[in-house]
Amino acid sequence: MDSQLLTLIDLQGFDTRLAALEAEAGRLPKQIEAIHAALAEAKKALDTIKTKADTTRKDLRTKEKDLEVVTAKRAKAEGRLWEVKNNTEYSAVLSEIEAIKQEKAQGEEEILGLMELQERLAAEGREAEARLKAREEQARQDEAVVTTKLTAVESALSSLRADRDSRARELPRPLLADYEKILKARSGIAVASVSSSAVCGGCRMAIRPQAIQELKAAQAPMLCENCGRYLYWQDPA
Ligand SMILES: [Zn+2]
Repeated sequence: MDSQLLTLIDLQGFDTRLAALEAEAGRLPKQIEAIHAALAEAKKALDTIKTKADTTRKDLRTKEKDLEVVTAKRAKAEGRLWEVKNNTEYSAVLSEIEAIKQEKAQGEEEILGLMELQERLAAEGREAEARLKAREEQARQDEAVVTTKLTAVESALSSLRADRDSRARELPRPLLADYEKILKARSGIAVASVSSSAVCGGCRMAIRPQAIQELKAAQAPMLCENCGRYLYWQDPA
């Protein structure tokens, strides 16, 4: 086979592997981002619970103070029962005390509700914290795996690029420029095989019998008349 054609076939092999590795090198950092995003989400869930717990604690303190005020108010009203001068005043103070009792009962109920909420939030907080811890551990492991992979891919890329470039230098510049132009224009495939089915491996267009004969002789690189890719004959395995 023509040596330039052999170099082109080789170069295509390099470029196909390079494209796959470059795609992976692009994908891996996104995996790391996804790991970080999942972790941030778990942190946010915990923060939300903590904020709710804080608010509940403050609400509870306020309600407890309110209750103290109501309790004092009741004691004061009960004291006034001894100072009233007639029945009208007596029943007025009694109904005031009744209203205070209801207020107190309502306050106590609210405090109970807040205490229950506080307990629930504390349990949720513990769960969220455990989940976050587990995720942090998992994230550390996953990120280490992805980072190792990325380092390996990058080092494979740089050595493959060096090999590819040294092979590329064997081609005359205009031929290399043509190859690279086709590679770019034809989604990464500039060299296509033709086998017994007699179609271009790049565009699936049928190749004329005469062209097949020329391909088999392989005296010089030939182009597909349809897609413009370099063609080479591949004997059926
Ligand atoms: Zn073609």
